[in-house]
Amino acid sequence: MIKHLRLKAYGKINLGLDVLRRREDGYHEVRMIMQTVGIFDRIDLIWKEAPGIQVETNLYYLPTNENNLVYKAAKLLMDEFRITDGVTIRLNKFIPVAAGMAGGSSDAAAVLFGINKMFQLGLTAEQLMERGVKIGADVPYCVMRGTALSEGIGEILTALPPVPQCQVLIAKPAISVSTKFVYEHLHANELRPDQHPDIDGIIDGIRRQDLRQISAKLGNVLETVTIREYPVIQEIKDRMLEYGAIGSLMSGSGPTVFGIFTSPKAAQDAYEEMRFGDAAHLAKQVYLTNFYNQKEQTKGVQM
Ligand code: ATP
Repeated sequence: MIKHLRLKAYGKINLGLDVLRRREDGYHEVRMIMQTVGIFDRIDLIWKEAPGIQVETNLYYLPTNENNLVYKAAKLLMDEFRITDGVTIRLNKFIPVAAGMAGGSSDAAAVLFGINKMFQLGLTAEQLMERGVKIGADVPYCVMRGTALSEGIGEILTALPPVPQCQVLIAKPAISVSTKFVYEHLHANELRPDQHPDIDGIIDGIRRQDLRQISAKLGNVLETVTIREYPVIQEIKDRMLEYGAIGSLMSGSGPTVFGIFTSPKAAQDAYEEMRFGDAAHLAKQVYLTNFYNQKEQTKGVQM
């Protein structure tokens, strides 16, 4: 048994997000291009002799009980393997919360990985992914990481080649968007063909390693709901393009917006404008990062 593990849980953005239809059971069938980015939460797992799961976090408004996804992930494996020791989970959040970056799902994936390692349970990544889907539809992807096509309700995953490296500017406005609200207002079965993003075009761009094609095809059908409700999302997209991004899009159900830059200088200048300059009033959290790259992808969840 390992007494202390330090983990990184990376956030994701969507290069494409399409909703094909709303099923009779209320779930939505999606086609999404997922991409891990270099923004991560820090998670420490500390073994303790006394039984129980204890969660500590730097954000006062996050739950520390079974409603936190890190708690759920630890409990799932510890119950299944009848582990009678305890664990303290220290969660340091940096990924914006409720922002469309799968922060909670990624934390859960890292804890599944960490508990498996700490107690030497011997589960493979696939076995962790099978268990992860019980916690959330995005958890299997967060175990896998990298560039992937996600289908079904998010649980059917196909790995894609890594996207060419570039700078990614991420900006989250000071609004909260409820994923439930967005899907309820989408009316997925009444969308016009031209409202669906060209997911196959993005995949083709990835296979060709053509960042311009990928950037030209970026699309998220959920913007049809969120931008109408929160015009600031469009304002941030426009600013990023004005500052030299070759493409810009809202991630997930929002409100986080990202911009893709091929010039490090333009990306740095845009970051400064969004953070301290003329556009600083638009976003509360601003980060300059990269796509999480191939070399790191092979290392698994723990870095
Ligand atoms: P997604 O991209 O999957 O929609 P998200 O970025 O919208 O995810 P999260 O940040 O993962 O949303 O979590 C949103 C909600 O989940 C929060 O309101 C929070 O109370 C709850 N939550 C539970 N565990 C966590 C966690 N470890 N980190 C963040 N939020 C958590």
